[in-house]
Formats: sequence, C-alpha cells, structure tokens
Amino acid sequence: MNKPNIVILGAGYGGMMTAVNLQKSIGADDANVTLVNKHSYHYQTTWLHENAAGTLHHDKTRIAIKDVLDTTKINFVQDTVTNILPEEKKVQLENGELSYDYLVIGLGFEAATFGIPGLLEHAYTINSINSSRLIRQHIEYNFAKYNNEAHPKEERLNLVVGGAGFTGIEFAGELANRVPELCKEYDIPREKVRIIVVEAAPTALPGFDPELVEYAMNSLEAKGVEFKIGAMIKEVTENNLVFEKDEQREEIATNTVVWAAGVRGNSLVEEAGFEANRGRIEVTPDLRSKQYSDVFIIGDCALLFNEETGRPYPPTAQIAIQQAEQTAANLKKAVQGEKDFEAFTPDLKGTVASLGHDDAIGVVFDDKKLFGWSASAMKKVIDNRYLLKLGGISLLLKKGKLNFFK
Ligand code: FAD
Ligand code: NAD
Repeated sequence: MNKPNIVILGAGYGGMMTAVNLQKSIGADDANVTLVNKHSYHYQTTWLHENAAGTLHHDKTRIAIKDVLDTTKINFVQDTVTNILPEEKKVQLENGELSYDYLVIGLGFEAATFGIPGLLEHAYTINSINSSRLIRQHIEYNFAKYNNEAHPKEERLNLVVGGAGFTGIEFAGELANRVPELCKEYDIPREKVRIIVVEAAPTALPGFDPELVEYAMNSLEAKGVEFKIGAMIKEVTENNLVFEKDEQREEIATNTVVWAAGVRGNSLVEEAGFEANRGRIEVTPDLRSKQYSDVFIIGDCALLFNEETGRPYPPTAQIAIQQAEQTAANLKKAVQGEKDFEAFTPDLKGTVASLGHDDAIGVVFDDKKLFGWSASAMKKVIDNRYLLKLGGISLLLKKGKLNFFK
C-alpha cells in the first residue's frame, strides 16, 4: 500500500504542534508528512505585541523551523499557499503544487476590518513578525521625525489602539513601558505623548471578570494610558481617527492606529469554497470539515461550538495547541487504517493577559483570580511550558522567559 501524504498548512501553534506530535508518534515509513509555511521560522503570535511595541526583539519570538523539526522525518516546504482545491485533494503554492490524502489547515487569522473606511490603507495590525516589526519602526520613525520639523506635529506622538480586547490591552501595556524609553531616546517630554485605547463596548475586555478589568484599567491609566470607552471607530485616514461616542463624532489627530479590534480566519479557506463564518470553518467534533472528511481544520481557521454555552470557543493559542495534539493522534489512527477518530475536548486552563512586562491579570483553574506579579509570573510559566512542549529544554533555555523578576 502506498504511504499516505499528510500535508499541513501553516506553522503556527496548530500546524507546528501537529508536525511535532506526528514526528514523535509515527515512523517515516508510515506516511509522508509535509509542513508548508510562508517563512523559514515559526513565531509565537502571543508575543507579537511586545515586538510591535519594541519591548522584545522579534528574534526572541521567532524560532527556525529546522531547529525544531527533524527534516528527515517531516518535509518542510517554505512557500506561500495560494489556493486549496479540496475536490482535487491538491494545494497550490506560489512555487508549486502538493497532493494530499489528508490535509491539516492551520493558516491562522487575519484582522477583521468590518468594512471600516481607511482601515486597510492606514491602520497597522499585529499579526506577523513583519507587521509587528513595521509598527515598531513606524513609531520610532515618528518619534525621530517629531523634533526635525519646523512645526512639530502632535499626530506623530498620538498612538491609538483600536479595541480593548486582550490584544489591545496587552499592546497598550507594552507601549506604556516603551514610551518613556522612546521619550528619553528622542528628547521628547513624556507628557507630549498620548496612548489612547478606543473601545466600542461599554467596558474594556468585554465579558471578562469585572474586578480584573478594573484592575487592568487602573494599572494602565497609572502608566499614562487613556481609555475612550463606548467609542466606536468609524474611519481612519492618514492623519486622523474618527470615532462615535454618545452619538457625537470625535476625532484624534494621529498617524499611528494599531487595529486590534477583532480577528477572522485566513481568507484562503473561504476562497477555497469551505462554508465559513467570519472566515472560520465549522468543524465536526473530531475537527474535520463537514464537507470534506479528509480535511482537518485547527486553530483560528476552525469554528467549534461549546455545547454547554452554545457559543463558539474563542480563537486562542491554548485551543490551537490542544487541537493539534488531538489531530496528530487522529492522523496516527488514520495511517494505521483506523477510522474511529476521537472527538476534541478542550481543557481550558484559564486566561492570563499581560499589562506590560511587570504586571498582568488572569483567571486560572476555573475561578482563581490573579493579578500583579503572580499573574505576570504565571504568564511566563504558560509561555515557557509551550516552548518545552515544542522543542524541549534546549528551546526553553534559548527562547524562554526565564527572568521572573523583570
Ligand atoms: P497562527 O499562530 O496565526 O499561525 C498561522 C501560520 O500560518 C503562521 O506561521 C503564518 O505565517 C502561516 N501562514 C499564513 N498564511 C499562509 C500562507 N498563505 N501560506 C503559508 N503559510 C501561511 N492566545 C492565547 O491562548 N493566549 C495568549 O496569551 C494570546 N495572546 C495573543 C497576543 C496577540 C498579540 C495576538 C495577536 C493573539 C494572541 N492570542 C493568544 C491568540 C493566538 O495567538 C491565536 O489564537 C493563535 O496564534 C492561533 O494559532 P494558529 O496556529 O491558528 O495560527
Ligand atoms: P477581540 O475580538 O477579543 O476584541 C476586539 C475588541 O475590539 C472588542 O472589545 C470589541 O468590542 C472592540 N471593537 C470592535 N470593533 C470596534 C470598533 N469599530 N471600534 C472600537 N472598538 C471595536 O479581539 P482580540 O483582542 O484581537 O483577540 C482575538 C483572540 O485572541 C481572542 O480570542 C482573544 O481571547 C485571544 N487573545 C488572547 C490573549 C490572552 O489570552 N492573553 C491575548 C490576546 C488575544
């Protein structure tokens, strides 16, 4: 019998952990496993806000794929997926084509822009190393430029974060730590710089524990972050942001809008003809497409409902990693000729969000609330645990966040 071809698209949390688990659990004689990714590296999406603010260098966040994968067991193809043809069981790449018997789609997320005018052209998003590095450089350029113009422009120093979800809050926390350093470096008084978080809902972090939301807002406000709550962003131009609050139109002069107000699945999956909801494909309990039983979908491209609440599970790294583990186990069954795939059951361990490197909030183990140093340390433990799973102790020592007191 021919060896089946397993093709994994995307080396994010989902794709990378599927590949690593298959590397451990099946032999090279059992299946041809190919991982396709745009870059030669995997990156920790959950650290990108630090790279974007400039509080952490992006080389700490990215990990060379060949340092983690054994390429004698897993083929790695560095290329960009351009099209998925599920009827033909093929994937088109910029530089070639692959056929599969089983496909794993782990192509991640992109910003949801909700058709807001000017966002695509003028706002920045935190969704890859490239986009995050651009934000860091854009902010630095504006600080550098500020003192080099006859009439200094306030829009260069007004940094606007769109959305106070976890991404917006975490990014604002990093900015609050970074801005004093930038001010010192570029001879700019701190009081001239504004960090403004604009949130449409009646609260920051809608749906999260109110006591911790209050803690987070107080902590960030103490570091100089301003909040516009109940303020819906309506338009972004090169030098301006327009929002509506209490039925009044307001504007902020800015040429830095970082849009962190929602995500959707990679648009390639919708373009391939999968039925999608905000770019996410509703999957069977064992994480397969309802239309194509040989296609597994994991991470931010997958839509899975929590039967207890009737609501979808949020797109998180935590879930993407667990889905990858389940998918690798089911693929092992598939190559052994078994068809009774196991359903995925998430094991949600909680949520911890940073407020800069020195503060955080979280709810773990069902209902234990954490804030301050203990939450910050817990966040590092979570990050380090992932590195240990991915590449063992050597990767942890190389890339881990080992300083718990900074
Ligand atoms: P991703 O990790 O996004 O990976 C997708 C991969 O596919 C990337 O490597 C990309 O380069 C590749 N790719 C994309 N398109 C193509 C293409 N056309 N061809 C080839 N390759 C392609 N979740 C948590 O649980 N905890 C957190 O603390 C947390 N913090 C976050 C902080 C930030 C700033 C952000 C933005 C998100 C955070 N999340 C967090 C959410 C989490 O990062 C995502 O849910 C997670 O990354 C999804 O994993 P994934 O494998 O689906 O996709
Ligand atoms: P999100 O959808 O969770 O939050 C987006 C926020 O933007 C919401 O509060 C929403 O009300 C607001 N918003 C939407 N449209 C707006 C508009 N026009 N004007 C102003 N505000 C607007 O998105 P996210 O924060 O990017 O998170 C995406 C996923 O990643 C979530 O599942 C989240 O849990 C996860 N994540 C987790 C962590 C963590 O666990 N530490 C960190 C970051 C992201």
